[in-house]
Amino acid sequence: MKWKQVLREMKPYKPGRSIEEVMETYNLTEVVKLASNENPYGCAKSVKEFLNSSTLRFEIYPDGNGGTLRKKLSEKYGVDEGAILFGNGSDETISIISRALLDKGSHAIMATPTFPQYAHNAKIEGAAISEIPLVDGQHDLPAFLEEITDQTAVIFVCNPNNPTGNLIPKKNLISFIEKVPEHILIVLDEAYIEFVTEPDYVDSISLLKRFPNILIMRTFSKAYGLASFRIGYAIGSPSVIEPLNKVRNPFNNNSLAITVAEKALEDEAFIDSCRLLNAEQRERFKQYAAQNSLNLFDSQTNFVLIEVPIDADEASEFLLEKGFIVRSGNALGTPHHVRITIGTEEQNNRLFSAFDQLLMEKGRK
Ligand SMILES: *Cc1c(COP(=O)(O)O)cnc(C)c1O
Repeated sequence: MKWKQVLREMKPYKPGRSIEEVMETYNLTEVVKLASNENPYGCAKSVKEFLNSSTLRFEIYPDGNGGTLRKKLSEKYGVDEGAILFGNGSDETISIISRALLDKGSHAIMATPTFPQYAHNAKIEGAAISEIPLVDGQHDLPAFLEEITDQTAVIFVCNPNNPTGNLIPKKNLISFIEKVPEHILIVLDEAYIEFVTEPDYVDSISLLKRFPNILIMRTFSKAYGLASFRIGYAIGSPSVIEPLNKVRNPFNNNSLAITVAEKALEDEAFIDSCRLLNAEQRERFKQYAAQNSLNLFDSQTNFVLIEVPIDADEASEFLLEKGFIVRSGNALGTPHHVRITIGTEEQNNRLFSAFDQLLMEKGRK
C-alpha cells in the first residue's frame, strides 16, 4: 500500500505502563501511577454524582456543537461561543491544527524537549519542523523568531512546558507574540494552566483581541481529573476557529464527556483546592531536591522533572519495583532525570522513601 513515506521512521505513541500490568509483573498489592500527570485527587463530586444518576440516551448521536458546555465556557472566559473548538482531548486539537495548516512545503516551530505530539503530527502532514532546544528548561523564544521563514505556518508554545514544567515569564511571551507575523498561528498549549501559582503568567485569553493569531489549548484531562473522557478545547478568534472546525470530525466528543465536563465546570472550588494542595506538595519536591543536591526544574505544573544519580531507565525501573510508575527522562529527551507526577501527601511520603533508597544504593546519602 502507498503509506506516507514518513510513517516508516515513526513510532506509535508508547503509553506508560498500566497499574494492573505493574502489579502483576512485580507482584505488588499497591501501585501508584505518577507517570502521566493525572489528578491524584480524582474529579469533582458534582461529576461523580452525575455519573451515578445519568439518564443519558446512548443511542443518540452526541451534540456535535458541544451542548451547553460551549455556553458555559464562553461565559467563564467572556468569549464568543464561536471562539471555542472542542477536541477529543488536546491531542486531537493538535492533529486538527496540523491537518488544517500543515503539509509538504510548510514549516512548524516548537521547542525540544516539549510535548511530542506537535512534532509527531507535523511530520505526518509532511511539514518541515524546527525544534529549538530549551535553555535551562525555558523556551528560547528569540531563537524561535530567527527560525521563521516564508513557509512557517504554525508555532507551538507549551506553557508551562511538558516535561520541564517551566512557565514563560509574561513579558517574554508577550514581546515574542508581538514579533511573530500575523499570518502565523501561535498555539499556546496551556494543559497545566490550572496549577500555576506564579503571578507572572500571561492571561492569554485577554490577549485574543490584540493578537488574533493566537490559539489557546486547554484540557479537562489534567486538573479537572477527566483524562479518560478525552475532552479538551481551544479558544481563538472566530477567523481561526472557523477553518479548524471544517477539519474536525462532526461528532468528535461523546455525550458523556461533554456532560461530565459541564458538571466539572460547576465546581471551581475543587480546582482551587487541587491547585493549593499541588503547590504545597510541589514545594516538598523542591526541598527534597535541594536537600539531596539533585537538579529539579522550576515547575509550575503538577509534575516535576528531577535528577537521578543513575541512568533514568534504571531509576524508573527501581521505583517501579517499589510500586511507583514514573516517566524516564531518556524517552522524553531529558536523560539523568525522571518526570514524576506530584501525588497526594501520603503518596509523596512513600515516594520520597523509595527515592531515599535509590540514593542510598548509589552512595549519594
Ligand atoms: C497531557 C497533555 C496534553 C494532552 O491532553 P489531552 O487533552 O488528554 O489530549 C496536551 N498538552 C500537554 C502539554 C500535555 O501535557
